[in-house]
Amino acid sequence: MRHVTRYRVYPSQKVAGRLFTGFARCSFVRNWCLENRVYRDSCLPKLKEEYPELKEVQSKVLQNVVQQIVHNLKALRALKAKGRKVGKLRKKWVHSMIYEQTGFKLTGNRLWLSKIGEMRIELSRPVPGRIKQIVIKHTPAHKWFVAIISETPGNPEPTTGTRAVGIDLNLENFSTDTDGRVFEHPHNVRKAAQRLRRAQKKLSRAVDGSRNRRKQRVRVARIHERVENRRNDFLHKWSRYYVDRYDYIALEHLNIKPMVESLDAKLRGRPKSILDAAWYKAREFIRYKAANAGKYVHLIDPAYTTQDCFICGHREKKDLWQRTHSCPVCGYTVPRDLNAAQNILKRASVGWGTPESTLVEMGAATLPIPAVQVPVNEARISRL
Ligand SMILES: [Zn+2]
Repeated sequence: MRHVTRYRVYPSQKVAGRLFTGFARCSFVRNWCLENRVYRDSCLPKLKEEYPELKEVQSKVLQNVVQQIVHNLKALRALKAKGRKVGKLRKKWVHSMIYEQTGFKLTGNRLWLSKIGEMRIELSRPVPGRIKQIVIKHTPAHKWFVAIISETPGNPEPTTGTRAVGIDLNLENFSTDTDGRVFEHPHNVRKAAQRLRRAQKKLSRAVDGSRNRRKQRVRVARIHERVENRRNDFLHKWSRYYVDRYDYIALEHLNIKPMVESLDAKLRGRPKSILDAAWYKAREFIRYKAANAGKYVHLIDPAYTTQDCFICGHREKKDLWQRTHSCPVCGYTVPRDLNAAQNILKRASVGWGTPESTLVEMGAATLPIPAVQVPVNEARISRL
């Protein structure tokens, strides 16, 4: 079983300097490969002869840079094959390094990285199992983090429980489930988002290249990080709640809410983009937590879940202000989001337990969306 844990690290100025140099070398290799269209790490020995400064970086780290490009290209090609418009892989500056299998040592609260040195690590929780990979990263708010990817032997036993739940992610509240449990949108995220907007405005007014602008940029990045942290915190608790209590969890695959709804979201001070990102993360968090607990997640086709009547199936368009589902045919009357959650569970219960091997990559452009069964043991770990 795979685990990903994230910790803060505190490199000294000297060590940080070496890390930045490492990033520079990695960026050089990445951009050199893209420019020369070389996608094999066998180019590295020769490149090192030509540019001896590349020896300042552990060789496995550099190999990983090239492998990352190959990985990204494959992903792009897969998207293209599905008829999506994709751009080219751009050159960029990298802000992280990946240590795999070797070149690191964790003793107590000290982390040692090959060719870099030692730094303090804040081990907020113990690392589960054996460490496979360490990713060290610098954020725009000038903080350092490591993501530790570790493995414990064996896979989780599939659950034998039968508790099932359908969850509707919506605008009015963050989520409503079939047991009537409602999670509100985390208030602090909205507040921070307002602060973020103000700071961004100030940044756009600052003179280009000025000291003030640089400072403001870090300030914006800090607020951004805070929003991100608070949201993650909420989403971790939220997903934990469901994975601990239920064996079968049904969610919508995508939220394609009509335009009016996204406009409405804006009016309420919750920009759709923020919600979209949160919804996406919510699913990912539930999926990988469920995978580690041997539980089932089913993502269903979201079409008409709010319009259909759970009891008789009668379909009727609802306006956004209609917060209640009141069926003109059978008289079934419940809160709108509860009816949606019930529909989600109903749709999912048709297909539990027949896992597919691939997660179907889908966008709004590829409607209508078929229902997909997502295997819980194939969880994708969301980007850190
Ligand atoms: Zn009905």
